[in-house]
Amino acid sequence: MRILLAFLCFASAASAADLRYWVEPCTRPETKCAEQDPLMAEWAFQDWARASAGKLHLERASQRRQANIRVHWAAANQGLYGEAVPFFEDGLHGFEVYVLPDLSGMGRDISQAVRLDSLLRDSIVYLTCLHEIGHALGLAHTNQFADIMYSFQFGGDIPEYFGRYRRQIKTRADIETVTGTSSNDRTRLVSILSR
Ligand SMILES: [Zn+2]
Repeated sequence: MRILLAFLCFASAASAADLRYWVEPCTRPETKCAEQDPLMAEWAFQDWARASAGKLHLERASQRRQANIRVHWAAANQGLYGEAVPFFEDGLHGFEVYVLPDLSGMGRDISQAVRLDSLLRDSIVYLTCLHEIGHALGLAHTNQFADIMYSFQFGGDIPEYFGRYRRQIKTRADIETVTGTSSNDRTRLVSILSR
């Protein structure tokens, strides 16, 4: 989970609290995306909108070039779960968000666990969407293990980080309503949007 920190221009766009997003359909087999992955991204946007206490209004764009936040499915790259990269294109500031659907290269603990538990796999894709979209909304990393904006650079038990969310859901549909954010994440988002 890495962020290229250059979101200052975009942060002012975020304070307008009215952003458009786009999610890549699962059409490129080389990413090994799953049919449900675009829904994971949709739910992550909804999670942040709920976390914003009404300050963030997100609208789905039908075309990528119209969106401030663009979620793409990434092929395996540098061992990253995801990445958020700022762009400025056609007068529009925003972030290209990349999320890795194929977790087979993310270490033995994770790759074995997701083979045995598809809901853990969906949880990780969901939480990665949430983390990277958090960056796109202007949130930097924290050192608090409870936060979705926690960085693994601070260490900690990565399987447990994902596992504690997984234990809260019984079906994939539960992801829509079980937040992946902490109270600290929500407070920080509201603070950014209130500037
Ligand atoms: Zn990050």
